[in-house]
Amino acid sequence: MKKKAGIVTAILVAAVVALFILSDALAGKEIQRTFFAMDTLVTAKVTSAEPEETIAQIEAEILALENGVISRHNPDSELAKLNGKGGKVSAELSKMLETLIDVSKKSKGAFDFALGSVSDLWGFGKKAVVPEKEKLADALTHSGFEKITLSGNILTFTDESAVIDLGASGKGAALDAAKEILKNAKAKRAVISVGGSILLYGEGDFTVGIRKPDGNSGEFVATLKTEACCVSTSGNYERYFEENGVRYHHILDPKTGYPVSNGLVSVTIISDNGLLSDALSTACFVLGIEEGIKLAEEYGCEAVFITENKEVYVTANADLMLEINDKSYTRAVQK
Ligand code: AMP
Ligand code: MG
Repeated sequence: MKKKAGIVTAILVAAVVALFILSDALAGKEIQRTFFAMDTLVTAKVTSAEPEETIAQIEAEILALENGVISRHNPDSELAKLNGKGGKVSAELSKMLETLIDVSKKSKGAFDFALGSVSDLWGFGKKAVVPEKEKLADALTHSGFEKITLSGNILTFTDESAVIDLGASGKGAALDAAKEILKNAKAKRAVISVGGSILLYGEGDFTVGIRKPDGNSGEFVATLKTEACCVSTSGNYERYFEENGVRYHHILDPKTGYPVSNGLVSVTIISDNGLLSDALSTACFVLGIEEGIKLAEEYGCEAVFITENKEVYVTANADLMLEINDKSYTRAVQK
């Protein structure tokens, strides 16, 4: 009798242990890993059945997107071969370009995916210098989205010196590529950050911080509570250099060719789509608060603008998600 009870207990214990192992396998493990791609650090935190494998796939996919498709500096990439010449475009790149042409048009050129002739002169990310005035003026004549058209899968350049620069949107495109892999891997939850763009994937709420503009203090001006989405921030503190006491940052006004100076320090966009959140963060930075809020709303996105005067402006729904952590910043309303 005793022996029988012992066997039953052992079977029960084994069943409970098996259930725990099964539920653990279903929930998956959480792994975080950092790697370098797209000229920045990428941090991937993934909960899936095989997170190491999922992250390895994400890394390979982002590097393939960068080196094979969108890098204008890698001579073997699709974009490098097309720049200045045009030709047949892959489905992947033409889908991106369609969106970027649309943002360029709707922002009336404040966002310009074809300002590479100008951004190359500044050399942000490499050896940055203030370009000579004459060179900048000449580069401006070869810059502008209207010099490039996409008809079906055929890209045409009316100016051979025009250069497509996907620096303002590539990191967001990387998030969209990562999202596909997470879906296929049936990942439960993930946070993938590529420079200033973050993919929040899976069930439940996420909290994401908007950095203080004073460098790498690790502190936040505000935090946003969201469900799964993409969040991109364009900040004038991200890439800059100083020359003769003047600070030059990497977000350029396509009208002048010089860094935008409009009192903003950062713009954060929340969207379902990474490419859009990244492109719009740059577009809205250049446009400023009033026009920027209109553009974000036109795309059904939310936006948070932070000014040098420590004011925080937001679209209506972003207001509900936002908490200001640094009380020296105030919530401001557009007049
Ligand atoms: P982001 O950090 O996403 O705002 O992207 C900034 C990068 O986009 C710069 O380093 C340039 O390569 C490029 N860029 C700068 N100004 C613009 C602009 N007005 N429109 C499109 N791309 C830009
Ligand atoms: Mg951007």
